[in-house]
Amino acid sequence: MQDNETQYYHVAVEAPLPPLTYSLNENILLPEGCPVTVPLGRRKVKGVVLSQAQKPDGDLKIKSIQSYNMEIKLPKAYLRWIEWLSRYYIYPVGQIYQYTFPNLKKKSNRKTKKAEVVPQFDQSHAPQLTPEQTSSVNTLAGSDGFSTHLIFGVTGSGKTEVYMNSIAKVLARGKKALVLVPEISLTPQLIERFSSRFPEQVAVIHSSLTPREKTNQWWSVIDHEKPILIGARSALFCPMENIGLIVVDEEHESSFKQDEKLKYNARDAAVMLGFYHKCPVALGSATPSLESWNNVLDKKYQLHKLTSRVSGRAMPEFEIIDMRQEREARKDSKVDLPFWLSQALYDKIKLTLERNEQVALFLNRRGMAQTVLCQSCGYVFECPNCSISLTLHARNHLVCHYCDYHLHLTDNCPKCADPDVHSLGLGTELVENDIAKLFPEARLARADRDEIQSREQLETLIKNIENRQVDILIGTQMIAKGLDFPGLTLVGLVMADVALNMPDFRTAERSFQLFTQVAGRSGRHSENPGQVVLQTYNPTHTSIQFAITNNYEDFAQHELEFRKQLSYPPYGRLASLRIQGNDHNKVENSAHLTQKRASILKDRHSQYEQIKILGPTASAIAKLRGKYRYHILLKAKDSKVLENFCNQLVGDEKWLPSGSRLLVDIDPYSML
Ligand code: ADP
Ligand code: ZN
Repeated sequence: MQDNETQYYHVAVEAPLPPLTYSLNENILLPEGCPVTVPLGRRKVKGVVLSQAQKPDGDLKIKSIQSYNMEIKLPKAYLRWIEWLSRYYIYPVGQIYQYTFPNLKKKSNRKTKKAEVVPQFDQSHAPQLTPEQTSSVNTLAGSDGFSTHLIFGVTGSGKTEVYMNSIAKVLARGKKALVLVPEISLTPQLIERFSSRFPEQVAVIHSSLTPREKTNQWWSVIDHEKPILIGARSALFCPMENIGLIVVDEEHESSFKQDEKLKYNARDAAVMLGFYHKCPVALGSATPSLESWNNVLDKKYQLHKLTSRVSGRAMPEFEIIDMRQEREARKDSKVDLPFWLSQALYDKIKLTLERNEQVALFLNRRGMAQTVLCQSCGYVFECPNCSISLTLHARNHLVCHYCDYHLHLTDNCPKCADPDVHSLGLGTELVENDIAKLFPEARLARADRDEIQSREQLETLIKNIENRQVDILIGTQMIAKGLDFPGLTLVGLVMADVALNMPDFRTAERSFQLFTQVAGRSGRHSENPGQVVLQTYNPTHTSIQFAITNNYEDFAQHELEFRKQLSYPPYGRLASLRIQGNDHNKVENSAHLTQKRASILKDRHSQYEQIKILGPTASAIAKLRGKYRYHILLKAKDSKVLENFCNQLVGDEKWLPSGSRLLVDIDPYSML
């Protein structure tokens, strides 16, 4: 019998460390991508085999691999893609690998669970595709190798029908399909639409599955039982083989960007996955991101336009209310209206309710008021952990929207003791209170993070609206997207300025998207076009003007011009370096040290000449959850140059003084 020979491996461990060498003295060869557990210090950590290694020189004590799992094999394309993620987003490769494995072990009796009852779809009921749809389907399903496609069409123009027909063709060729949608759009309606068209062929992964459910779904994909995977952004990490099409619906959605740990954008990562898998990628949107639109203009992405709503339904009618004129408009009013409600919107709500139709009011702010202050001494109630004012909820409940700090509001100011405490601002809770007083008969529902905290609650709310148990829905952006209610004919945007006044270069784009999406909620099924009332103090804002005429392309041209002048994406790349820690002085010093290191690096290497270093400055939220925050913004023309620069700058992070951490966000979405 042959003796076991010791093998050596480079292992990426689940820790912020470079790959380490481990040994295994068994008669087996571990493949690249094989999950293992290894000792690290006194701990046992997960890891993954990167490659075989030479026997290290010297008498360095090499520790041995404790266990391995040969059941799971990561396809080569995934390995290359994970390396790309690690390089591009500057994140330890061993920690990314852990995203790709299920949390639990495979259950042997998994298949004995009772089969789901899915209403079978009569294939003869599939709609006859329009010429535009047919041509998209043929291009997508007929593409060999990597290519990226933008499916640009308003809500209801038949994009989902294009995805499903393309997937049918891809499956017929023996390949698989991955469909990513924003978490909030992953409704039972959508899942049922796919699983009735493709019975027994659809796996679903989203954040509210239990670890066991997630593991089962994961294995149903890996074991080739289900050739279609639909999921929120994390579904990207389920290592499917033989993918023939990747779809990213609502590609412009900022929820595809993960803001913590691995700060990836699932849309961009999906395009790269298509590149490594050599398959086409379809991005769908009614309001494409300017990054994607610019890629169309540059001929990197192929454009597919779906120009009309399938059933020829009209687009909604927009009315802009200039809130600055309200005092005048209310002169003869018989009702006493709250400051945030215009006479015109009030009248329309009344009429809509009289017709037994439904109303939705949007406001992207929760609570009763943003700020509570003492009018005697000016004291503002702030969160002790975050540099943010506390929001008033109910009558006397103060809450920090960032860290959940709670405080009971007393009648007297804690500083000067005067009984002069007042609240300023507006939130969904106040809107609900005021509406309840104005329309005591109407049945109200509120959809925001205070009321809706689980997927089940959201689904119940949706059912209640569909069943006409709700007359007026009041909510944040949570309900603005993807929902489709037959009885809803009036949408009010209570204060559009909340969206317009964010300190971020993407504000105009986000507002345009929001206004367009919200408008799409109204009158989707009625004979008459739905109505949208937009209240604002800034009626001439370009985002509003382009949204009311439903003119995406002109908006894009206008906004791209502005981005170009300031070298913002898509004309330049950004990286945000955040320095944070518990001690203000240490954080500030580290921020300056980081800036100095960046300047030296830039001066030493001519290829980094194009890099602009802005800052350091205290972040807009200068303190969050007890941690002080500074940031430095890097701008570059070329993403590869920025990638190299960041990797070199961050290095092993050993140069950073203790007490502060450096977090890198490539292509940042939130810079507060
Ligand atoms: P989107 O994904 O762009 O919102 P959908 O694919 O959901 O659009 O289509 C909207 C509605 O129109 C759906 O009810 C769908 O079944 C229907 N539909 C789509 N394409 C056609 C078509 N070619 N003929 C008739 N109805 C269609
Ligand atoms: Zn806080």
